[in-house]
Amino acid sequence: MQYNFYTSPPNYRSYVKKLCELKRDFPFLEVSSIGQSVLGREIYAIGIGNMQSITLFAGAFHAQEWLTCSLLIRYLEQLASSYKEKTTVCGFPVNQSLKQRGIVIIPMVNPDGVSIALEGASSAGYLRNFVDSIMQNSNRSWQANARGVDLNHNYNAGYKQLKELERSAGITSPSPRQYGGECAHSEPETRAMLAFLQTRNVETAYAFHSQGEEIFYEYGLNTPAKSIYIAEILSKVSGYTLVKNDGLYSHGGFKDYFIDKFYRPGFTIEIGKGENPLPITNLEKVYNKILEMMLVATVI
Ligand SMILES: [Zn+2]
Repeated sequence: MQYNFYTSPPNYRSYVKKLCELKRDFPFLEVSSIGQSVLGREIYAIGIGNMQSITLFAGAFHAQEWLTCSLLIRYLEQLASSYKEKTTVCGFPVNQSLKQRGIVIIPMVNPDGVSIALEGASSAGYLRNFVDSIMQNSNRSWQANARGVDLNHNYNAGYKQLKELERSAGITSPSPRQYGGECAHSEPETRAMLAFLQTRNVETAYAFHSQGEEIFYEYGLNTPAKSIYIAEILSKVSGYTLVKNDGLYSHGGFKDYFIDKFYRPGFTIEIGKGENPLPITNLEKVYNKILEMMLVATVI
């Protein structure tokens, strides 16, 4: 039987293979690495269209949320095919739109975490024993990178407040989830994203997580006025609910940092409903539900 990337969880090997196949089929894709994980896995970025002004989609910050990687690759493949054939998707002239504003997709921000989530501590190389010691019975709860740092709690946006919230929740050391690290930007995966933001003109950024069918759209006083309007449109076309940051999810996230430092619209999209990890069999259902939202998000 022919291997199908969309019917199995995206382990790092199959993910890299899929990117090679996409580059072969669509040579205009700009595939690059923005940096490496703690264990030396590449963090890939794939661009299509005008790279002077871009929308950013990034996924798999959290290990158990690897379905976001499959989803973003699925979207990338459809965009690439439509860009090449000059066809429309849900009425969107993809080729024309991407020539105005391009898109960069970073499907797997946390490749070590996804490997631990799918294959256990044995995938963590020299950190195998460390990962094993903090794993707490099962890799099903693993959301962090290989050093037990939650990458969506590691950005310098309200980091001090976040550390206080962590301490009151009893999280003071590396952990499968919700530990923000010794200091902001302590992790190479975080720094790779920062370097990307600093060198590229990202107009709007979307971080994909699971689950909840929700859209987070604000962070403090630097949230642009237009963010709520964009969020309302995204909600309308997807049926996803608009929500505000709360509790341990209030600070330190990628979209928080993007809004706070760049004064531009940033969003977190929580895909699907159920218990993480959402199964790969949910992919088509989730994709069909939010395809139009992703298209709107790409061009808005
Ligand atoms: Zn998440």
